[in-house]
Amino acid sequence: MLKEKIERMREEAKIENASIENVAKTSSNKTWAKRREDVDAGWDTNRETYLTAFIKHKALFQSDICSNCKISIVHLAVRCRTCSEHYCPDCDWAYHCKKPFHDRELFEESSSRPILPSECILPNGQVIEKGK
Ligand SMILES: [Zn+2]
Ligand SMILES: [Zn+2]
Repeated sequence: MLKEKIERMREEAKIENASIENVAKTSSNKTWAKRREDVDAGWDTNRETYLTAFIKHKALFQSDICSNCKISIVHLAVRCRTCSEHYCPDCDWAYHCKKPFHDRELFEESSSRPILPSECILPNGQVIEKGK
């Protein structure tokens, strides 16, 4: 877990260095338009890297377990930015049904999406709206 975190930080540091180098290269006596072009080109070259880092950042770790009941939630998890925790669908709803201001996100195997305060996730991944 810690190793993965360090790996991720390294990845991000690499990207930062890359963009700094790009800026340094483009800053000397060129027209603004030319500089603009260079920045766009730099973005094009780096887009793949940014994208990968972005996805990695968003993705769940293979080792993820529910913060509350400790079951494995590799394929279906709720991440709460407010709590900075991951939950299984059961624990998520048990905990968050009375906390409408928490910023929750549903993670499925290959996608993620924000969850409304009134939305509850079933163990099969189905999202249902709970009445008030
Ligand atoms: Zn749980
Ligand atoms: Zn929360």
